[in-house]
Amino acid sequence: PLNWQQNVQTRPALTFVPSTVLGLQNLIKAYPHRRIRCSGYRLTRSDFFAEDGDILVSFVSLHYVASVLPEMISMFSDRINEAELSGELRSVQTFPPRAGQPDTQRVRVGVAVTPEELREWAIADAWSLPVDVTADEVTTGGIVGSMCHGSGFAHKSINDYIRSVEYVDVNGVVQSITDAKELHAALGCFGLMGIITHITYEVKKMTFAVMQPRKVKTMLAVPPPDPSHVPEALFVETSPDELQEAIVDFERRAAQDHYTEWSWFSYQSDVLVNTWSTVADSEGEEDYTTPTQTFLQWIAA
Ligand SMILES: Cc1cc2nc3c(=O)[nH]c(=O)nc-3n(C[C@H](O)[C@H](O)[C@H](O)COP(=O)(O)OP(=O)(O)OC[C@H]3O[C@@H](n4cnc5c(N)ncnc54)[C@H](O)[C@@H]3O)c2cc1C
Repeated sequence: PLNWQQNVQTRPALTFVPSTVLGLQNLIKAYPHRRIRCSGYRLTRSDFFAEDGDILVSFVSLHYVASVLPEMISMFSDRINEAELSGELRSVQTFPPRAGQPDTQRVRVGVAVTPEELREWAIADAWSLPVDVTADEVTTGGIVGSMCHGSGFAHKSINDYIRSVEYVDVNGVVQSITDAKELHAALGCFGLMGIITHITYEVKKMTFAVMQPRKVKTMLAVPPPDPSHVPEALFVETSPDELQEAIVDFERRAAQDHYTEWSWFSYQSDVLVNTWSTVADSEGEEDYTTPTQTFLQWIAA
């Protein structure tokens, strides 16, 4: 199989698409002397999966994983989930609220669940992780395995919101870790601790993004303290007051906004500034993106 960028190719001896935790246990017991590795959507750019001759466990149906082109997953989000993978590894299970903690909740998530599926759960249940990756087709196992992050100065990595990890160990035995110190080590495992089957996130009450992305001249979007360092192609004439205003705006966004993203692409004069804060009040709430916007963005990409 290939990864998403098609720069890594492996030839595992066998590839399994598990449907139950018991199946994973049986697999490990059946091959005690073989190296067994996992893959999710294989969006990772580096050589992070099985070596040639290993056994690969794929948490995405082989019909739909990464290298199928053209990739239209953003428009048909349930596409990778239709086939073999069963409910157990794709389940999202909310626990009852705990006494005295009305603003947080725990949710147990199977490793085959994608950020898009978790987003749909979050909207339906009004709980949410404060951070997530920008790729909606990856798997929870892949996110945990490579210690992924969202955005915003105040936030930690996604794994820092995990309160329990369940995995099948090298002997085919189901284990779970809840101790904070042990979790800290286990969640930096790069997929080498065993096969993770479920994790439990601590999530917060759903809030609403006050979003107004803008295109801004590069020099004013990420303003340099000394404009003489700006390359000629990106230089814009500005007064000292304008520059100072841009610096204050940039620093406020970077330090205080819930989500912060400055996107610049080669040969472009503008930066897309997409930083926002959140509010608890849902008044004026709108879905983002609409199916039409998603389609237009897919064409543009
Ligand atoms: C366009 C794009 C945007 C991205 N955006 C972000 C972003 O915003 N933030 C960010 O942090 N990253 C981002 N990434 C990186 C991406 O999120 C990671 O590469 C992530 O690991 C991909 O998940 P996956 O399901 O494809 O996992 P894979 O790439 O398939 O696997 C990653 C690792 O996890 C291990 N693994 C997978 N499942 C399990 C399991 N069940 N048990 C144990 N180990 C397991 C694998 O063995 C492998 O080592 C982006 C990548 C791209 C290409």
